[in-house]
Amino acid sequence: MVPEFANEPLSDFATRRDGMSAALRQVQAEFGRDWPLVIGGQQVTTGAWIDSVDPCHKGRRVGRVARAGQAEAERALQTAWSSFADWSRWSAAERARLVLKAAALMRRQKHLFSATMVYEAGKTWPEADADTAEAIDFLEFYAREALRLNRPGALPHLPGEDNELVYQPLGVGIVIPPWNFPLAITTGMTAAAIVTGNTAILKPASLTPIIAARLVSLLDEAGLPAGVVNFLPGSGGEIGDFLVAHPRTRFVSFTGSREVGTHIYALAAQVQSGQRWLKRVVAEMGGKDAIIVDETADLEAAAEGITTSAYGFQGQKCSAASRAIVLEPVYQDVLRQVAARAEALRQGPAEDPASQIAAVIDEGQYHKVLSYMDVGQHEGRLVSGGEPDGEDGWYIQPTIFADLPEDGRMAQEEIFGPVLSFIRARDYGHALDIANGTAYGLTGGVYSRDRRRLERARAEFQVGNLYFNRKITGAMVGAQPFGGFDMSGTDSKAGGPDYLQLFTQAKVVVERF
Ligand code: NAP
Repeated sequence: MVPEFANEPLSDFATRRDGMSAALRQVQAEFGRDWPLVIGGQQVTTGAWIDSVDPCHKGRRVGRVARAGQAEAERALQTAWSSFADWSRWSAAERARLVLKAAALMRRQKHLFSATMVYEAGKTWPEADADTAEAIDFLEFYAREALRLNRPGALPHLPGEDNELVYQPLGVGIVIPPWNFPLAITTGMTAAAIVTGNTAILKPASLTPIIAARLVSLLDEAGLPAGVVNFLPGSGGEIGDFLVAHPRTRFVSFTGSREVGTHIYALAAQVQSGQRWLKRVVAEMGGKDAIIVDETADLEAAAEGITTSAYGFQGQKCSAASRAIVLEPVYQDVLRQVAARAEALRQGPAEDPASQIAAVIDEGQYHKVLSYMDVGQHEGRLVSGGEPDGEDGWYIQPTIFADLPEDGRMAQEEIFGPVLSFIRARDYGHALDIANGTAYGLTGGVYSRDRRRLERARAEFQVGNLYFNRKITGAMVGAQPFGGFDMSGTDSKAGGPDYLQLFTQAKVVVERF
């Protein structure tokens, strides 16, 4: 009997730091370690490598992973199909038990996983800890969901006949996660694929492959049979395209940018010679998320919620607030309060527990974010930040631009960094129009004390995850299934009751008695 699902508690670093400090030392001691590919349980190197670099210390290599080419991708795909024959016949209870074992192992080493993300992704202690807790939640939740999905008796009875509905696995899937939740999302996507009986090729994000390698090693320790998850770091453009287009790929589970997601969606839709199915694509993509504040709101709470949502993990969350849409009467007040909070944030290396925000992920993202400083100056007014901050890592100050037009680039494009755009709204209807006026529809929020307005937003604010009078980041597995509308993706609602079905096909068997 599996106990009811409960979210993993977060660590309290105000009272206890020793476990995390020890884990940071342990990860440091492993700097420079080489991690091979894993295909069919065998460790494989190719002579080519991908370096993982600490964003907070440009010169520090956290380690490196072997880099797969198309030959290894082909081998991994064939191996995953060979392993599918056995794994797909394990019962749901057997697979769920193994995934629960993986959750227990991760919980036991949770600081080691978090410390790896501190160095590899530039996550501050609480951000890394939340990422690990979410990964544990996904394992625990999807194990229970797999059991629920396989419970018999879902269909009504017809006299003289036995009717059965079973959810079968699809086959071999390609799991392609992003770097920004390099453990939680990677674990969730991988666990959902395998707990339903599929086998997978995990192609991690090239900026955060080591945390993914640790996950694969943990699944092995939990007893996952060889070939069920094949670990295949490599270039998205090279092996990613090869695998997505391959006629033997059954499904693709992707989380990342709109640009890559739409490319994958189109590529997977083309039926290749010899292909025997339509590929299933789950694609969760970017956002341009907004928080509306009206004149009835608790303005302090709104300023706090906007600041947390905009700058947590340096604004590199798909759910991050990148637009503050504020009604005219309180616009200046909210702007002033958010600016004061943004300027007070302590920026520094992620390994320092005092740091509240750290560096952006890499040089490419650093230059991309900085390029928006010119756009912001041109379209509006710089209120705070706007500069690089420190030489050692890819630091950018928390930045605010104000008085921006609702249809300009600052209001429309996903920047994915610590940059917040303030937009003035004439009235509440105008605020909702602005909020809905992008191609995205991931998260959104409203701060208001007006019940009618909240109810109107409930109906009219078109996002997958809508929050009232709180921050718009930090969706909890189970209680707050996550996924967006429109160009934010296929709205798969990760961490919710509909998610696992995406990795199955339903079969109905009728027997006349
Ligand atoms: P990305 O550049 O789209 O990369 C995501 C993954 O796709 C990486 O593993 C990448 O590999 C791979 N990839 C790149 N080109 C590919 C191709 N042609 N074929 C197959 N795979 C390919 O996104 P990112 O920069 O890692 O992540 C940030 C984005 O993810 C943001 O837009 C954010 O909003 C979004 N996101 C969305 C959600 C959500 O739930 N909606 C959650 C988190 C993040 P390489 O690393 O090797 O390029």
